[in-house]
Amino acid sequence: GDLPARFAAQRKAVLSNSSRPDPSFAELGLPVALVQTLRNAGIEKPFPIQAATIGDALAGRDVLGRGPTGSGKTLAFGLPMLARLAGSPSKPGRPRGLVLVPTRELASQIERSLDEAALAVGLRVASVVGGAPIKRQADRLARGVDLLIATPGRLDDLIKQRSADLSEVSIVALDEADHMADMGFLPQVTRLLDRTPKNGQRLLFSATLDGDVDKLVKRYMHDPVTHSTAPAEA
Ligand code: ADP
Ligand code: MG
Repeated sequence: GDLPARFAAQRKAVLSNSSRPDPSFAELGLPVALVQTLRNAGIEKPFPIQAATIGDALAGRDVLGRGPTGSGKTLAFGLPMLARLAGSPSKPGRPRGLVLVPTRELASQIERSLDEAALAVGLRVASVVGGAPIKRQADRLARGVDLLIATPGRLDDLIKQRSADLSEVSIVALDEADHMADMGFLPQVTRLLDRTPKNGQRLLFSATLDGDVDKLVKRYMHDPVTHSTAPAEA
């Protein structure tokens, strides 16, 4: 056949292949405003789990991400969520993005990690966790939150008192799904997921993907793409 044409096609395929070894955040498809915020924070180059998952999450796929502590899972789900939610504000009490986490500490850690980036794309982030006054959280929700980070119990309470409604959630992330299972949160997590739209996007991140986590995956994720990064060599 036509050799030059074939090479040109191959070259094009290589250049546009987002799974090539070292994509930048911009090449993964993140908006300039987010890339700039990362750079300001000294984050220049995606970690492997981020390079693997961000493109698929931006494309709207359900993603299963497995990686050890410190591998960079927060930005792996957080950045595509912010990119996809940017541009249209959520109604009071009706967040469009939801991150479920097992602990208060993790909630505030994620909020801190995503705060600047959210601001850069005009999104409002808030966390609701147990052990803090529920009235203040209800007021915060009433002022409008685009991305809500929550522990299951407190979110359940806020829904019962009609301060939160999950019917407009278009993207859910479950972080540390294995710990949520270990801590006995799965019944609450499934109840909460049942309140989100069935056709919404779901991202699940965990250090392990077996047992109870697998049940969640089978029940709630649609044709998920799985990306795993190995633990660092000891
Ligand atoms: P995990 O949730 O997988 O345990 P985190 O998302 O908490 O990991 O990230 C661990 C640390 O690495 C955090 O301090 C975070 O700011 C930092 N980090 C994440 N991604 C990058 C990156 N691409 N470049 C540099 N530092 C990063
Ligand atoms: Mg984490």
